[in-house]
Amino acid sequence: MQVAVVGAGIIGLTIAHRLAGEGHAVTLIAPAEEPHHASTGNAGTIARYALDPVGTPEVLRDLPRLLFNRDSPLALHRPSALSLVPWLSRFLRQSLPGRAQANRAALAVELAGAEADWRALARAVGGEALLNDRGAVYAFDTVQAMQRAAPGLLRRRSMGAAVELLDAGALQALEPGLPQGRFAGGALFPGTIWLSDPVQMLARIAAATGAERVNARVTGLAPQGAGWRLHLDVGAPLEAEAVVLAAGAWSAGLLRPLGIRVPLTAERGYHLEFDGVSPLTRPVCPVSRGFYFTPMQGRLRAAGTVELGGIGAPPSPHRWTRLEEGVRSVFADLPPVSRRWMGLRPSIPDSLPVIGMARKGLVLAFGHGHLGLTLAPRTADLVLRALGGEAPLAALDPARF
Ligand SMILES: Cc1cc2nc3c(=O)[nH]c(=O)nc-3n(C[C@H](O)[C@H](O)[C@H](O)COP(=O)(O)OP(=O)(O)OC[C@H]3O[C@@H](n4cnc5c(N)ncnc54)[C@H](O)[C@@H]3O)c2cc1C
Repeated sequence: MQVAVVGAGIIGLTIAHRLAGEGHAVTLIAPAEEPHHASTGNAGTIARYALDPVGTPEVLRDLPRLLFNRDSPLALHRPSALSLVPWLSRFLRQSLPGRAQANRAALAVELAGAEADWRALARAVGGEALLNDRGAVYAFDTVQAMQRAAPGLLRRRSMGAAVELLDAGALQALEPGLPQGRFAGGALFPGTIWLSDPVQMLARIAAATGAERVNARVTGLAPQGAGWRLHLDVGAPLEAEAVVLAAGAWSAGLLRPLGIRVPLTAERGYHLEFDGVSPLTRPVCPVSRGFYFTPMQGRLRAAGTVELGGIGAPPSPHRWTRLEEGVRSVFADLPPVSRRWMGLRPSIPDSLPVIGMARKGLVLAFGHGHLGLTLAPRTADLVLRALGGEAPLAALDPARF
């Protein structure tokens, strides 16, 4: 089948690779440059253990305090506040106990095979050297914070994730580069894989795919005969038997003219990089700060935090300032920041992606929020099945809203 894949982030690329491997004729369409697409600047973890949706009763309880403090790890992009009201009202509903539990159970199904899937993908594209499997760590500032988190961590264990609780000494022994006495304890997710360079992995997948690449922005989608016509910002329209829409946070705008409404917003995330330093041997998340330190090739990356909303707006410089304060509260002696980045997590109120056929020949694959890297191979598998005529999983169904 002739398939146009819209978007060349980790989701679009992995889908293109999978479909091409199954013998489909794939055209991959995306602008040559999109500095804010999420897949280049993330924390790099294949977070099989991340079983909690963003919306939970605990987050709901703290939401007013978090959202209205522009420096909190989960803040609101104020200029976007009004346009966010419909998304936020859905998010509040999804944070109630029953919905949060259902979303957690659905996430558990999606995450179960993430590590095996990623190993297979890395092998297929010759990217195994970019995978590390020394695990990932949460670090807690106080014993009380750790005690509050413990029931949730143990619940993850009962849902299939490997978790080991660590006292301060065990954490220090595991990561001797952490400042002595800075954390009261932690949790190790043993065996967790992370990427030492997401950009290099994207390049490997693109090279192994060999799909035709069109450097353009899709400006409109329209049914055409038995297939689809794609209008582009440069050059003539393209035609394809099927379209896979994997344009991350930008996807909903292309669906509105077709009468398809999906509650998608951007959770803006930030990173800072410090060249030439490597105090850690695995990703470490200081939980109260909402970001990860991830050791990457030749540099340390601090990536995370959430600022809701604002697809077209420039980055908020104060978010980098707060992130840097968090970084230096752990490693006071790091050199000056080497580079700063902001990217858009494509986010749905129930923390589950939208995957499946929305119209004949139009498959949606976006909305992966905090887990797009982790879920990319699984998504490619589900897209392949959707193109083969399989009905979507209820929890991911584009028609669930
Ligand atoms: C700070 C941060 C840390 C993160 N850490 C992790 C992590 O540790 N583990 C994890 O699993 N996930 C993590 N994530 C989430 C993950 O990065 C995202 O879920 C994932 O990258 C989304 O991929 P995507 O391909 O859907 O979107 P994107 O990477 O945003 O790609 C979208 C693509 O669509 C293209 N596009 C947009 N509009 C159009 C158009 N009109 N026509 C054609 N193409 C278009 C863009 O150019 C781009 O190629 C993190 C995200 C952030 C921001």
